Amino acid sequence: MNYDENFKEMEEKGFDWGQAVAEANRCLLCYDPPCSKGCPAETDPGTFIRKLRLKNVTGAVRTVKENNILGGSCGVLCPTPLLCELECSATEIDRPIQIGKIQRFLVEHAFKTGFKVFEKPAADKEKVAVVGSGPAGLSCAAELAKDGYRVTIFEAKAKPGGVLAYGVPSYRLSEDFFAEELKDITDLGVEIKCNTPVDKKGGVEKLLEEGFKAVFLAPGLWEPIRLNEKSREIDGVYTATEFLAALRNGKHEEFGKKIDGKSVAVIGGGSVAIDSVEASRRLNAKDVYLVYRRSFAQMPAEETERVEALQDGTQFLLLNQPVDYITENGKLRGLKLVRTKLGDKDSSGRRKPVEIPGSEWVLDADVVIEAIGSRAVEDSTDWYPSVKTNEKKYIVADKETGATSVKGIFAGGDIVRGPALVVEAVQDGKVAARAIKKYLRGEE
Ligand SMILES: Cc1cc2nc3c(=O)[nH]c(=O)nc-3n(C[C@H](O)[C@H](O)[C@H](O)COP(=O)(O)OP(=O)(O)OC[C@H]3O[C@@H](n4cnc5c(N)ncnc54)[C@H](O)[C@@H]3O)c2cc1C
Ligand code: SF4
Repeated sequence: MNYDENFKEMEEKGFDWGQAVAEANRCLLCYDPPCSKGCPAETDPGTFIRKLRLKNVTGAVRTVKENNILGGSCGVLCPTPLLCELECSATEIDRPIQIGKIQRFLVEHAFKTGFKVFEKPAADKEKVAVVGSGPAGLSCAAELAKDGYRVTIFEAKAKPGGVLAYGVPSYRLSEDFFAEELKDITDLGVEIKCNTPVDKKGGVEKLLEEGFKAVFLAPGLWEPIRLNEKSREIDGVYTATEFLAALRNGKHEEFGKKIDGKSVAVIGGGSVAIDSVEASRRLNAKDVYLVYRRSFAQMPAEETERVEALQDGTQFLLLNQPVDYITENGKLRGLKLVRTKLGDKDSSGRRKPVEIPGSEWVLDADVVIEAIGSRAVEDSTDWYPSVKTNEKKYIVADKETGATSVKGIFAGGDIVRGPALVVEAVQDGKVAARAIKKYLRGEE
């Protein structure tokens, strides 16, 4: 059981030159491009598509990378039908321009041809610390380094990238592609210190005492939400975070043995749950169930992903709330469920699931993967005790600047927004970098 055998064919190929130009030629060249307004990171597709149409490829690459240092990864991972492509005027004629795919092509083209957008700047400005090397941290670091700030990223894990390195499956974002994009950032002079968590009491404030003139906090949300207290002790119950991280780090054989020929139930309705069912099928699970307490239409995962999972044979157990595990000698035997019906709307505006009394039943399962979200690490508020946080332990930061309650400490990404998107984390990094520069120039 290995990656090539089980997952290789799932890799989605990017556009080649002909396809990218043909797609760009469909663009209506809107005067005030709505697609650009639909991009949370101001990547400006209206401009890069126009440049590609005029065969100015290096100019197009420049637009992408100058606006979005992770433009390649975003091109692959952005839920474009909900963002830039949602606004595309070509939809009124037939279908939207495939903006994400064009963007990915441009960055891939630069990698293949060795075209570099940035020269290494002279690093002669103040030292700035970044905590966390996910998309928010990388984006902030790159923006600062481009202007000559000396940036050090402190990363708890062995590899940089956050969810891009430990969450998103390799068949969606290849390691080689991401490594190239990461190199664009380290080539700017950004230093990334891996295996270096900033997790001592007051460790973040201490960075300011150690000579860093500003800090950007982007540690993300890494505490998986569990179904119940028993989850972590049962043999056969895993979190999506550990499952996907293991696969991302080449442990196909190890997880393959646990899943091959088994009945697997994945709990959750988002993209992470879909990634988990796809991966389970690829590891030759006998049956794969997706258990979700609301309806199909209410699932947060993109419609195309949901439909593909259905077509590929995933059995959707909708309107079913998992309540407990059935075990035998510490080993998982089944998942206890109760049926639900949709009641009144909740605070999210969706009709909430209401349990139907007496409708409990047990789904036989050898493996359960919990993909029910993640939250801030329990003791994370101790890392930055003077920074204001909310009841969910998210950091409270100004939307326009990323400034926190402590002078010189800024924050962004999931730890501020809650679970969000790569492109939004990129934008938070950019916004905070602008504010940090102003702060260090004494302009705020
Ligand atoms: C499995 C999965 C799939 C996803 N797929 C998509 C997708 O397809 N498209 C999309 O747009 N979004 C997707 N998302 C959401 C997206 O990845 C996140 O919104 C984004 O990564 C948030 O970026 P971030 O920089 O805030 O945090 P993260 O990416 O979580 O990075 C935080 C980093 O900080 C490090 N860290 C934590 N604590 C410390 C500490 N004390 N000291 C030092 N370092 C620390 C962590 O190790 C990590 O590397 C997905 C999320 C998951 C979990
Ligand atoms: S970064 Fe994402 S949302 Fe923005 S233009 Fe590119 S693909 Fe669209």
